[in-house]
Amino acid sequence: MLWRSPHPDLDIPTNITTWEWAFESSHSGVHNQPRANLGSYINAITKERLDYADVKEKATLLSSALIHDYGLQPGDTVSLFSTNTIWYPVAMWATVRAGGCVNGASPAYNVEEMSHALKTAGTKFLMTLPGSIDAAVAACEAVGIPTRHIFLLEGQHPDFKSIQDLMEAGKWCTPSPPHRIPSGKTNQEMCAFLNFSSGTTGLPKAVMLSHHNIIAQCHQLRQLQVVPPGQRYRILAVMPLFHITGLVRFCNYPVFMNGDCVMLPGFTMDSMLRSIVEFEIPELILVPPIIIRMVRDPIVDKHLIDLRRIVKRWSSGSAPTAPEIIELLRRKFPDTGFRQGYGATESTACISCHPPSHYDYKYATAAGLLCANTVAKVIDLDDPTKELGPGQTGEICAKGPQIAMGYLNNPTATAETFQNGFFHTGDVGHLDEDGLFHIEDRIKEMIKVKGQQVAPAELEDLLLGHEFVEDCAVLGIQDAYAGERPKAYVVLKQGVEAKREVGAKLIQFVKEKKVRYKWIAEVEFTDVVPKSPTGKLLRRILKAKDRER
Ligand code: AMP
Repeated sequence: MLWRSPHPDLDIPTNITTWEWAFESSHSGVHNQPRANLGSYINAITKERLDYADVKEKATLLSSALIHDYGLQPGDTVSLFSTNTIWYPVAMWATVRAGGCVNGASPAYNVEEMSHALKTAGTKFLMTLPGSIDAAVAACEAVGIPTRHIFLLEGQHPDFKSIQDLMEAGKWCTPSPPHRIPSGKTNQEMCAFLNFSSGTTGLPKAVMLSHHNIIAQCHQLRQLQVVPPGQRYRILAVMPLFHITGLVRFCNYPVFMNGDCVMLPGFTMDSMLRSIVEFEIPELILVPPIIIRMVRDPIVDKHLIDLRRIVKRWSSGSAPTAPEIIELLRRKFPDTGFRQGYGATESTACISCHPPSHYDYKYATAAGLLCANTVAKVIDLDDPTKELGPGQTGEICAKGPQIAMGYLNNPTATAETFQNGFFHTGDVGHLDEDGLFHIEDRIKEMIKVKGQQVAPAELEDLLLGHEFVEDCAVLGIQDAYAGERPKAYVVLKQGVEAKREVGAKLIQFVKEKKVRYKWIAEVEFTDVVPKSPTGKLLRRILKAKDRER
């Protein structure tokens, strides 16, 4: 059975770039607005504000400097490894304007993680923060990116130019015209963003998102948006800009909506709560671990009266939210609505989302209805040719204008994941009689820690390089706060004793080599890691064993 979206079809432009759509077309909320009525990106802490005329001007200068002084070409990748700052979207828009591809990742990556990311995304230019500059230099050296192609998004460093320096230089060159869609092509064929996802299996891959994907997702989301008349759309960027939700919701969508996006540079509960109150944010887009803190952390009570007055809606996604938590949230904030969105990097965020009529706790455990212009099918886990009906559980597949172009330089993974236009999500669930999505499990390997992806293959590759380890398998185990955490099953080399200290050493080894959210919570020693006759790791057997406990 094929499910269709209940929403009216949208007319999504195919002949313009994301830059033209946001800053030059009548599709966008900023079009023909007087300066005084423009929305902005705002730094939550310093209150520095860039309205969308500033953003357009600065992005034009930056793209001109990158093209004239550094030879940036259409199709070149610019990586932004940064925490949330108002300069991130400026660099993003500059890259898109020049016809480049924007790639984002965590600034906390160590040298190996960064090198892998830069290689996978085919990076030509890297913009980052002073605290990440040493790792950036080593990673760029390792993959052959010239040091003069490293810039600071914010702050100063004696040896590196900042994007502020580049914008100054841009004033001295003839402004380059924005990159246009070449004749005979559409924006569906032009990659604009490269976001990492491990997909169904293996190491993180660069998901190619077209200009069309981003434009389509923003149109789909606007169809479900409520902004009371006379009010400006306002959002707080809590989740990282380098994640797909951050890229869409906090970089692209605010311009399209001519809204204000308040950037939270570093997450703490205190700074988030203060910003909600100070900037009167009516809708929060959060991940389940932060929702858990909203109901459990006593710091929330300090602001409870204000929060109850200001917050109207909670949105959650990236991982399941437990029904008990949703119920506690309803009790603590009885006058709010709640909705979930469901999707992945490969679907430019949402495949499904609740419409305004569903901002109700009675729908909260479901993950919404199909977005406009999108169809879905649920296929049998044992026989993928069999399409299932309402209430029957299988793998969820979706097709629509937000489905990615594929994985960069990885035709095998692309062919496995994208079949006849359908994105095979690797998620297990069902759609009910009303077309509501219910996500139950994941057949793909990916582990989700606080909404962030961890690829088991990455940790397995690392552990296999340790002198104690003969073989290993990593999988996600349930964690009340983080959702999941990685656990390693380890077969020790002959002569190494299965002692607690050995497990502690392996945990420490991962800590030293990987960014915090990838750290291993537990090590269990085993005699053998289950494998198929072809040597493929049988993770499901281990997972089942783990769940039996
Ligand atoms: P990412 O590409 O990092 O956004 O991760 C996508 C994956 O997150 C999906 O394939 C799901 O496994 C999981 N996910 C996203 N939204 C939800 C949701 N509402 N409920 C359960 N899992 C979700």
